[in-house]
Amino acid sequence: MSFVQLGLIEELLKAVADQGYTTPTPIQQKAIPLIIEGRDVLAGAQTGTGKTASFTLPLLQRLVATHNPEQNPRRVRALILVPTRELAAQVYENVIAYSKYLPLQIQSVVGGASVGMQTRDLKRGCDIIVATPGRLIDHVNQRHVNLSNIEVLVLDEADRMLDMGFMPDIKQIMTLAPKKRQSLLFSATVPNAIKSLASQLLNNPIEVEVAKQNATAENVTELVYGIGREYKRELISYLIGSNNWKQVLIFVRTKHGADRLEKQLIEDGIRTAALHGDKTQGARNKALEQFKTGKVSALVATDIAARGLDIDDLPHVINFDLPQVPEDYIHRIGRTGRAGSSGAAISLVCPEEAWQLVEIEKLLKRHIPRVEDTGYEPVSLKVMDAPKKNAPSANGKKDFRHTKKPGAKSAKAPAGRGAGGQRTDSRGKGRSNSRGKS
Ligand code: AMP
Repeated sequence: MSFVQLGLIEELLKAVADQGYTTPTPIQQKAIPLIIEGRDVLAGAQTGTGKTASFTLPLLQRLVATHNPEQNPRRVRALILVPTRELAAQVYENVIAYSKYLPLQIQSVVGGASVGMQTRDLKRGCDIIVATPGRLIDHVNQRHVNLSNIEVLVLDEADRMLDMGFMPDIKQIMTLAPKKRQSLLFSATVPNAIKSLASQLLNNPIEVEVAKQNATAENVTELVYGIGREYKRELISYLIGSNNWKQVLIFVRTKHGADRLEKQLIEDGIRTAALHGDKTQGARNKALEQFKTGKVSALVATDIAARGLDIDDLPHVINFDLPQVPEDYIHRIGRTGRAGSSGAAISLVCPEEAWQLVEIEKLLKRHIPRVEDTGYEPVSLKVMDAPKKNAPSANGKKDFRHTKKPGAKSAKAPAGRGAGGQRTDSRGKGRSNSRGKS
């Protein structure tokens, strides 16, 4: 199925093509035609399934069909409620991208941003608001925004909104929006509390559900290696070499980190390319081509560079660094184990990243299995203090410091040249990378 078959207008098809999407995802195939028709929808879909486009594209299509360019100031006709600022930022970016050929104004209303600027912008008018409930209610109470012209109301990640205690805010917002409107409720899970909310919010809804996305597919083995940061690169070389992996996508946090790891893996005798935002388009295309055709077996990439790339269905994904944004974990892992093939997703987690792992597991609502014997001295991944975002360490260096076993050799010697001395199991004794250059 193509986006054309879903009945989308030219301007949206162009915007979708600009994003590099060629085929609608299952949730898009199911939800888009229903929403264009004007139906209320209760959708069970997780992050990573393409759910944002599945409500945004038809919402834009409906608004633009009855758009009045003479209306001044603009009246708010659609409201997208989301639980967190981070999600608001993502959804806002998506709405902006998909509406780039349409004459619609979008505004984001979230906590943490300047109230004064938001107030000024709200008074100027807009067609669509992407908001977190608390800040929106503040503006409503101060009469900065009028919700009485809402035609489409979207609740995204409704289960999280309930978990976060937004139910009273949502109820208040519902009473301010007109009764005659289209309502869409998206939720990763659909427990009774969501069904009850749906019965109050939606009018004769159609339920659509998509299978859990790849991140949780049974054919993807997810593992966490707790390991000191200084040994990560060596462990990667060991895993690739000893298992003879032919196609591994390795995620790192920074462009600089990508370049450094590329260089180190090449030194270890692994054919590697790097992909990040500072590379020219030509260099990126070349790296991707080499990876796809098997000329290189490891591709080191940042999240931004990997986003939107047609490199799916990979047998192995390694998180050299955990992502800063927990949702990115799902995007990364979603590249393995597609269409029934099996995949492995390995995260190398050092103590300083323990809090990020906690956030990821909170989002996934499950525990990722730990490898008990990593071949290295065990490290603690327990977070003792409240997570401090962007802090270098969750609990101070001392508690988490990696302790090398007595007699371990330097980690600096290139793997493949007998640097595997740190490994404490028999596999690593002689060598960490069986394909090391010689
Ligand atoms: P979401 O579930 O909305 O968070 O989307 C997950 C990711 O899938 C985002 O990075 C989108 O840009 C991307 N995406 C959405 N629809 C498609 C599609 N039809 N083809 C490829 N990527 C898509």
